[in-house]
Amino acid sequence: MSPLILEVENLKKYFEVSLGTVRAIDDISFGVEEGETFGLVGESGSGKSTTGHVIVGIYKPTSGKILYKGEDISVPLKKRPIRLKKEIQMVFQDPRSSLNPMQTVRDIVELPMRIHMKHMSSRDREAKVKRILEEVGLPPEDFMNRFPRELGGGESQLVAIARALASEPSFIVLDEPTSALDVSIQAKIISVLLKLQREYNLSYLFITHDLSLVRNVSRRVAIMYLGKIYELAPTERFFVNPLHPYTKMLLSSVPVLTEDEERLKPKEIRSTGEIPSPMNPPSGCRFRTRCPLAYERCSEVEPKFAEVEDGHYVACHLYNSQS
Ligand code: SF4
Repeated sequence: MSPLILEVENLKKYFEVSLGTVRAIDDISFGVEEGETFGLVGESGSGKSTTGHVIVGIYKPTSGKILYKGEDISVPLKKRPIRLKKEIQMVFQDPRSSLNPMQTVRDIVELPMRIHMKHMSSRDREAKVKRILEEVGLPPEDFMNRFPRELGGGESQLVAIARALASEPSFIVLDEPTSALDVSIQAKIISVLLKLQREYNLSYLFITHDLSLVRNVSRRVAIMYLGKIYELAPTERFFVNPLHPYTKMLLSSVPVLTEDEERLKPKEIRSTGEIPSPMNPPSGCRFRTRCPLAYERCSEVEPKFAEVEDGHYVACHLYNSQS
């Protein structure tokens, strides 16, 4: 196990809206190791993207701690030391809306250097923009002077990755980085991300709803449901021996190609209800209104998130009689 670069401890993020309080993240804890890709999966509304936004400082946590290399960064973005803003970057789901339409690719990739590397000469900045564009697979002579409207979806995402790379980060939150793109382009983006990770020992928090994708890229996976993490395990164990009924339900519905894969899939677990609102989550276990295995205790007591085997954590009364 490598040292932890990021630790999230009992993190909560609530939003006050006219109808009440949305508990988008409600007491989650996990750590990301140096050089690993940590997959955070869940359906829409699970709180996975909000988690990424809180980590990079877009939202201030309601309570709990985020430690980066041991330093507390659970403060508003403007109070974070500038060196930490440089080290923690984010790539967003929709590349087109994350790029300034008035700037050229060169301006976009150069901006983090202007902010974080003020000592750099314009010649060095230009050389670095060219090198980074080459690294992400965009020939600089073709792309430096283009505007975002002149780029395809995959090219826009590669520019967004180049921009993230320009400040020489150690940790990048990837928020559904391929879900807005054609399948044919997704593989290219993933292969660029993995190449950069090897080259620079980058740590990724990979946020996605795509279980097949997370299996191919992550060292460990955590699954969120209604603001809570319900299972966390090394990737192989998560897919071969899932424990939580919610994980089994999602995995049993993933399409597979071969009979061997079909045999390894968990027995089909059918959801028994609709996803409740994060404004009014069910008592006890939040999954109980959809869980076919729910029993009396599940509505009365919230299951504890506990380690049931080495590195495999689950929050379910079926596996933790103490919870
Ligand atoms: Fe199902 Fe109960 Fe386990 Fe929740 S705690 S997943 S309701 S069995």
